Amino acid sequence: MEPELDTSQFEEILATLRVAVTSLSHYNLTLYRSSHVEPVVSPKFTYCASRVQDPVSNELARHYFSKDLASYFEEATPSVCRYGGAFFGFVIPFILRDDHFCLVGDGVRDTSIDLWQLAALSRQGGTDVFSLFPHVETLPTATVREVENVARAVSREIARLCAAAQQLGEITESPAPPPQVEQADDDQERVNARLAEISLFLERVDKARSLAATLALCVDTITTLHPGAKLLTALRADDGVNYELSGLWGLPEELGILPATSLGVFLSREKVKTTVPFDNKMRAAIPEVRANLATSFPLESAGERLGFLSLLDCDLTPNDALVVSMLVHGAGSRLAQLLKEAEQARASSLSGRLLSLTNTLLHVGSKDELYKTILEIAADLLNAAQGSIMLIDKNGETMHIVFTKGITLHIAQCLPMKVGKGIAGKVAQTGQPLVVNDVEKDSRVAMINRPRFKSKALICIPLKLKEKVIGVLNLSDKADLAPFTDADLQLLTSFANLASLMIERTLVLEESVRFEQLSVTDSLTGLYNRRFLKSRIEEELNRSNHQGLNLTILFLDLDFFKNYNDICGHLAGDEALKRTADIIQGTLREMDTVARYGGEEFCALLPGTSKAEALIVAERIRAEIESEKFPGEHNLPLGRLTASCGVASFPEDGRTYTALIHASDIALYQAKANGRNQVVAANAPRSDRAPQGSAPAEPTQQQAAAARTFDFNSYLEATESLRQKA
Ligand code: GH3
Ligand code: MG
Ligand code: MG
Repeated sequence: MEPELDTSQFEEILATLRVAVTSLSHYNLTLYRSSHVEPVVSPKFTYCASRVQDPVSNELARHYFSKDLASYFEEATPSVCRYGGAFFGFVIPFILRDDHFCLVGDGVRDTSIDLWQLAALSRQGGTDVFSLFPHVETLPTATVREVENVARAVSREIARLCAAAQQLGEITESPAPPPQVEQADDDQERVNARLAEISLFLERVDKARSLAATLALCVDTITTLHPGAKLLTALRADDGVNYELSGLWGLPEELGILPATSLGVFLSREKVKTTVPFDNKMRAAIPEVRANLATSFPLESAGERLGFLSLLDCDLTPNDALVVSMLVHGAGSRLAQLLKEAEQARASSLSGRLLSLTNTLLHVGSKDELYKTILEIAADLLNAAQGSIMLIDKNGETMHIVFTKGITLHIAQCLPMKVGKGIAGKVAQTGQPLVVNDVEKDSRVAMINRPRFKSKALICIPLKLKEKVIGVLNLSDKADLAPFTDADLQLLTSFANLASLMIERTLVLEESVRFEQLSVTDSLTGLYNRRFLKSRIEEELNRSNHQGLNLTILFLDLDFFKNYNDICGHLAGDEALKRTADIIQGTLREMDTVARYGGEEFCALLPGTSKAEALIVAERIRAEIESEKFPGEHNLPLGRLTASCGVASFPEDGRTYTALIHASDIALYQAKANGRNQVVAANAPRSDRAPQGSAPAEPTQQQAAAARTFDFNSYLEATESLRQKA
């Protein structure tokens, strides 16, 4: 019976190792034992002791190593592993007494973490990768070299411990590992060289800036490990469907395109990479390549197949294949990362671009200019030489081209198209975009001989508002006559959404302008607008002419209203305008027409009213405005808001609309010039117009305008002089 090692001795071994190898301090150590005297039972090993720094990573390590522990015991060689996309660990098998042990060290990680592999490991271990990730990030980092050094030091220390134990007569057999390590010197060197290549590759691949550089790095590393191997790479093409083939080292450089359907010829479904004969199917797929053997590795990341890499005429051992598959996997991850970065850059530049396009479109004035801008932008985005915008007519059954690029507009515009007919008609009907890369062959469109178009590729996108299709955007003839891609479709769809909104906005704006033009009232005051007033005056002039009736016009303008706005605010200004409108309307008869002529100018038509009668009414209006308590008017210099009014009558002051308006305007100027807050009749005797005795000459239109913009200082001066006179 062999003396049993007790638990405290196991603990002691770990404690001694910790003290002897200082760099071991942040590692978790776990000791397993397997007794080879016992019959082989499962499990062959038992856990005996541990020193745990970090329970989470230790749990993952146990999970990972326990799977293969039996083989580590069997191989009896120390090894360093990288697992779970981030972790480093080492296993040192040794024999103490008759017992076989394995010391597992873990708890450090690589600087880069492959989240996908970490997720796979955490799934196996029943952990959630997302809760794991922040924790893993806090683990100390190491390089594979550092871990190797630690493992070597630990291995030496174990050998020393075993030797010491033997000297003390506590052990019956010499420990196995140290001599084994030395025996395997040659092998070890080879392994080290390989590890060095791989670690160099891993270090560099993350810095590769392009797909080509990544592939080149992978290919270089593989050919360093396997000189003489011919290499074949297949990389997913821009169309996202086919694979572009390239040859290296003794193969033609360009090997054409491999359709996705032929991918299975090279990639077996089995996980373990094996070398297979370069068979007839492979030969048929790539006739330019002559080879006898092929070992193919998928270039993929997170389940996404980016291509593959084949080593030709190179008989790989399973270990070699494993190393190559690691390299290819590393390259795949980097390729995926680069593609994602490119996509993100494209997306962010796209959103920036769309933002600036929104700005451009927002500042487009007219509908036609908008269509032109939309088409130009779309053509520019996709590098297309020709294009058109079609909008569905109100009837919903036909559509018209509203703008074209590269096609003569007048020919196109003459042709109304039926929704549902032709390529664009179908897109308008279904609301589904269509990318056709060969109009002559595509069964969906089956169009032959389109002489106007240089290329056979076209893209047709619906312009939609919510789910309603309002038209279509067509583009064709890409600059290099290349086909339109999924990325093109995506880009154009984003832009079409924006364009649709802008088209709707412009149409709504136009509609509302038209609506306003159609309406006869002013929205703020509810009074008639100037256009309506004009028609009414002309109508009444006609009647007055025939019936020999009088007709008078009042032209009223609020005094220093700009200052009222400035002092009391625009909202108060609006309110004052409404009240003024109410006062005027309340004072006049049903048959009179009151209009808001401009900003704070009002004009009233009093049919059948003489100037004398009208002056009385006008004076009443002026007085009412003067006494009205307008919001905030006490803050004004005079403490009140007032109005001036000019009065002109048919027939004496003019016989036409223009003449009467002009006459009343001149009278209004006179009222302003006289100090405001007064009513002045057109063509009144000079004394009437200038109560202060001055006798200004008949004002010109220019002077009238100038008087309206009488500045605030003059207002104060005038006010002051009025006060003094009072
Ligand atoms: P004057 O006595 O010479 O008429 O002086 P004024 O300040 O009234 O001069 P003018 O007629 O040039 O100014 C008109 C002002 O009326 C300019 C603008 O601030 C204001 N205004 C025009 N339309 C509106 C409106 O709809 N709402 C408001 N709150 N203010 C308006
Ligand atoms: Mg005014
Ligand atoms: Mg004015």
